[in-house]
Amino acid sequence: MNNFQFYNPTRILFGEGQIASVADNIPQGSRVLFAYGGGSIHKNGVYDQVRKSLEQFEFFEFSGIEVNPSFVTLMEATSLVQRENIDFILAVGGGSVVDGAKFIAAASVYEGDAWNIMTKPNQVKQALPLGCVLTLPATGSESNGNSVVTRYETHEKLGFFSPLVFPRFAVLDPTTTLTLPQRQVSNGVVDAFVHVIEQYLTYPVNAPIQDGFSESLLKTLISEGPKALANPNDITVRSNIMWSATLALNGLISSGVPQDWATHMIGHELTALHGVDHAVSLAIILPPLLQEMTEEKHAKLLQYATNVWNIDSGDDASKIALAIEKTRDFFELMQIKTRLSDYQIGKHDIPEILGQLEKHNMMQLGERGQVTLDRTQKILLNAL
Ligand code: NAP
Ligand code: FE
Repeated sequence: MNNFQFYNPTRILFGEGQIASVADNIPQGSRVLFAYGGGSIHKNGVYDQVRKSLEQFEFFEFSGIEVNPSFVTLMEATSLVQRENIDFILAVGGGSVVDGAKFIAAASVYEGDAWNIMTKPNQVKQALPLGCVLTLPATGSESNGNSVVTRYETHEKLGFFSPLVFPRFAVLDPTTTLTLPQRQVSNGVVDAFVHVIEQYLTYPVNAPIQDGFSESLLKTLISEGPKALANPNDITVRSNIMWSATLALNGLISSGVPQDWATHMIGHELTALHGVDHAVSLAIILPPLLQEMTEEKHAKLLQYATNVWNIDSGDDASKIALAIEKTRDFFELMQIKTRLSDYQIGKHDIPEILGQLEKHNMMQLGERGQVTLDRTQKILLNAL
């Protein structure tokens, strides 16, 4: 196992009715920004519950944070925070709103051009405190320090990390997820699944605890994901998916092990250039990436085949091939198509994707920097 620091300060408030405890977790006298997205929270009662919980505070609403939150919109919210001396951000929604709130928390107290937060390392020296009410299990953003922001005019989708933007608390009430459309249930399960894979399917460092957690999360998502589609009102299924998605990216399973993230980095360019959903981009890239990296990931791919997919016959190569095939089948079972051509993206689009990766310095991706542009090109060709 490698050396590591584990830090996760987010208080998890799990279960039905927990939105009421938001008030107890925001400092008395705070001026609160109540930030949300396109309005789904009006349809499932979450908006009313949050308003009720904020009764004792002075609060300001900011709605309209988009899917793949836009820098321009977030800067509008930042101006509101500065104008009204807001000192606590409450994000209510999915990963886009939570990511957006993190950016607002950092940008509000940043001196200079706030886009630097996304393009230059270690820009965040301070941030306003934030909390969240999560309504879409997927990103893990509710309990980590990551945020992804898009600048639409330049087709750039970039991420930043800071320990200062971990939410102070995250309400995880699975009943809020019952109104999710099928597409977002599918996206959430696949995003969480790929988060685990990016931290598990690398090379072995003798870390059976982390591997065991990862395998348990993967198996839970494989069994519960299709159930959520078949029985959308099953609250036990929703609960298990919600907790899986949080644990998938809260720093626990990445402690002391190598991390890949090549699928995410290539996927971000696909979303920025072609508008495919985040999880869709991952479902397209992961299978051909695993194929391309079979040699480097050989030992863990075998372990994945055996422990996650229960493949126990055949030679090593056929076990690995079957495990990759089953991964693709799982995405398709979750009703996500896994080929670039399913989204009208063709061979002629590949040079532009590679160009953006080069521009963003993504020429040596993966746990050992072995996913070069040449290999990414092969991955994209095999994704057609
Ligand atoms: P999302 O973009 O936050 O939301 C997708 C859609 O689901 C929105 O239209 C939203 O509507 C709707 N929705 C949310 N909750 C709902 C509910 N309970 N009922 C009905 N509709 C609901 O989706 P996401 O997958 O959570 O976030 C994706 C973003 O997170 C991407 O930008 C991705 O790059 C990023 N990401 C971040 C991390 C991280 O660690 N920070 C990791 C992976 C991905 P409304 O807008 O109307 O609410
Ligand atoms: Fe993701």
